[in-house]
Amino acid sequence: MNEHEAQLSITVLGTTTCTPEKGANTASFVVDGRVAVDTGWYFTDRLLACGINPLDIEAVVFTHCHHDHIMGLPQILFYSGIQGEKRPKRPLRIYGPAGEIRRVVDDAQRFLQFDRYPELRFEIEVVELRGGAELEICGLRVRTCSARHSVPGLCYRFENAAGASVVFSGDTAFNPDLIGLARGAGLLVHEASYGAKSVREDVRWGHSGAPDAAEVARQAGVGRLAVVHCAQAELGAALEAAKAVFPASFAPGDGEEIKTG
Ligand SMILES: [Zn+2]
Repeated sequence: MNEHEAQLSITVLGTTTCTPEKGANTASFVVDGRVAVDTGWYFTDRLLACGINPLDIEAVVFTHCHHDHIMGLPQILFYSGIQGEKRPKRPLRIYGPAGEIRRVVDDAQRFLQFDRYPELRFEIEVVELRGGAELEICGLRVRTCSARHSVPGLCYRFENAAGASVVFSGDTAFNPDLIGLARGAGLLVHEASYGAKSVREDVRWGHSGAPDAAEVARQAGVGRLAVVHCAQAELGAALEAAKAVFPASFAPGDGEEIKTG
């Protein structure tokens, strides 16, 4: 295995919060070119712009089912459905919080009127997950913990055979369980909805500030922290606040590809 294969690649499709901004789409990511983490606005456009064929996406993993994280699901279902014979002969696997994800996938198919256009149908496998799950997705070892958000949500850790690892917080308030999940990971991708503010106990909305994200990174002993899900206007201050707690913090740009060990 060479060094390139030993690393995980994370393509940043978007970095911002609920609605897109000029030059910044809502936060979603692709691991190793085939596992999507959430589907933000313009999901398939962003895949194409980042040089990823939407048909190469084998699995979509949802942190939770708020709009800015699921908006692109109908796009990839339609994109795949309309390909007919060109579509890969494997199901699209969709993972997400138990009690939430199945309804969203059903609703996306209804929105696309699959009953009127049965030729668009293809095999979709929905897998409901809870915190503490351990499974394999596309050859990657995956573990979850529960998020602390206003709806059921999950944080995910992906690890390849060489031990390269990346952890996604999804939307969560400061989360002690995430510290355990992220222990020693190469990269933590953490939300910072509240910018430079620390909101350690946001039980109402369930979001973090950059200092909270950095504290998780520091306590977990990760290699680097990518600060995401932060409004563009607040990003500069948020990054400085994160660096004050955890110096190896950075703010990835839309379209960036990050390699991690
Ligand atoms: Zn949310």
